[in-house]
Amino acid sequence: MRKCPKCAGRLSPLFFGTECKLCGADLMYYRFDERMEQDAQRAAAQDEKVRRILSKLPFYGKKH
Ligand SMILES: [Zn+2]
Repeated sequence: MRKCPKCAGRLSPLFFGTECKLCGADLMYYRFDERMEQDAQRAAAQDEKVRRILSKLPFYGKKH
């Protein structure tokens, strides 16, 4: 079930417009925004994982 991200109104699964019929929100904009956020979170998680692996290596972080 698709829902409007702004007014949480139900959208028909057969509705492929870019504007919520109930509140006029631009669905394309909202969905794009959501995806960007997910990508940022994934990138941050990946970065954290790499840093954790590197910190376990004995030669990492040694002062010269
Ligand atoms: Zn709406």
